Amino acid sequence: MRIDLSDNAKKWQAIAREYADEFLQPHEIEAELNDGELPEAITARNKARAIELGFSAIDVPKAYGGLELTLEEQAAIWEQMGRVTNALSWCFSEPQSWMFEACSDDQIERYVLPLMRGERKDCYAITEAGPGSDVAGLEATAIRNGDDYVLNGEKWYVTSGNLADYFWFQARVTDEDAEALFLVDKDTAGIEIIANPKFSHTYAAHHPTYLFTDVRVPAVQRVGAPGDDMTFTRSWFRHERLMIGARSCGAAARLIEEAMAFANERILDGAPLSEKQAIQFMLADSATELYASRLMTYDAARACDRGEDVKIQHGRCSMVKLYVSEMANRVADRAVQIFGGRGYMRENVAERFFRELRVDRIWEGTSEIQRLIIARSLIKRGLDGL
Ligand SMILES: Cc1cc2nc3c(=O)[nH]c(=O)nc-3n(C[C@H](O)[C@H](O)[C@H](O)COP(=O)(O)OP(=O)(O)OC[C@H]3O[C@@H](n4cnc5c(N)ncnc54)[C@H](O)[C@@H]3O)c2cc1C
Repeated sequence: MRIDLSDNAKKWQAIAREYADEFLQPHEIEAELNDGELPEAITARNKARAIELGFSAIDVPKAYGGLELTLEEQAAIWEQMGRVTNALSWCFSEPQSWMFEACSDDQIERYVLPLMRGERKDCYAITEAGPGSDVAGLEATAIRNGDDYVLNGEKWYVTSGNLADYFWFQARVTDEDAEALFLVDKDTAGIEIIANPKFSHTYAAHHPTYLFTDVRVPAVQRVGAPGDDMTFTRSWFRHERLMIGARSCGAAARLIEEAMAFANERILDGAPLSEKQAIQFMLADSATELYASRLMTYDAARACDRGEDVKIQHGRCSMVKLYVSEMANRVADRAVQIFGGRGYMRENVAERFFRELRVDRIWEGTSEIQRLIIARSLIKRGLDGL
């Protein structure tokens, strides 16, 4: 299914597809059967190749040695990475462009650029047990004490916490009654893991719960200035929601192709399964929904590239996250059904995606939260404000 992409986006799409097919996809089942882990040499090879191809620099400004790709081009890359299960594409870190606006020169040098070079790994700690979806109600605190801030709080589901060496830590600065983001090295005194639950997917990246008790960080570790509040976290959300859309499109495309190949080969009642109308309808619905999803994902990416009003960008990224993640879940459910009992085996791509895609309706704001964002924008600004 071709949709109109720029020549450069097509170029990056081909590079990412070759990488996903050659370096990642062949290792999916091995990862699935080994708690998400691959041999160190394979992970190191995959990371080195990703960095060599430039994937860790796609959202980095040219002034910092990055590629500064458009979001259309970045979506073309992440769509292809989305074809692979077990989060094998997460073998490299990737700074986002807002980090270069938000961070001081020192922070960029010590925390952000090392991500691009593959020397450090970050994790993002926002969610808490109490407020959950209500990020405006966060309870973690930052109290100014001389040249330091003292951080306290409990953060849940910190993705890649086991692999990262620093946090982006969201807390309420008590004397300003406002939110702020802090860069915190993982080995700072007062940080402990208090739980490391198992989740539905099989990833090498875990999602531990961290307790911060009187964690003292120099004031220069605060990102941005008073008044920035949740601005940077909202930038993070927009980027992630758009790329969840791109990855979900890739996942759906792979599922449709795999289910179709199976339906063509599987002979039942003397004829290929693909000749049954019930199967054809599931494939047709999936292809149609994927078409709509790809159009909206790339249209939203281009709107961001054009520098559309940030409120419009925000609403569109929410619509992409909502519609495309739900679409991919429907496609995965149909793919499992087409594969029958085989689709319930962990070695089957549909089974893995069926579990893995579920979280895309939850993290980076649940589907219900995306609906609230869209509805509020619609009510405030009308259809043209979306
Ligand atoms: C595997 C995994 C990895 C994650 N990684 C990270 C991470 O790296 N960093 C991080 O900070 N967080 C992370 N999260 C947390 C994730 O963003 C939250 O789980 C999510 O935002 C929902 O919060 P909650 O789990 O507390 O659910 P709750 O807020 O308790 O919501 C429960 C249900 O109520 C609904 N609901 C809540 N409020 C409303 C409302 N106002 N109107 C209607 N319905 C509502 C929700 O949609 C949901 O269906 C991760 C979560 C998972 C599962």
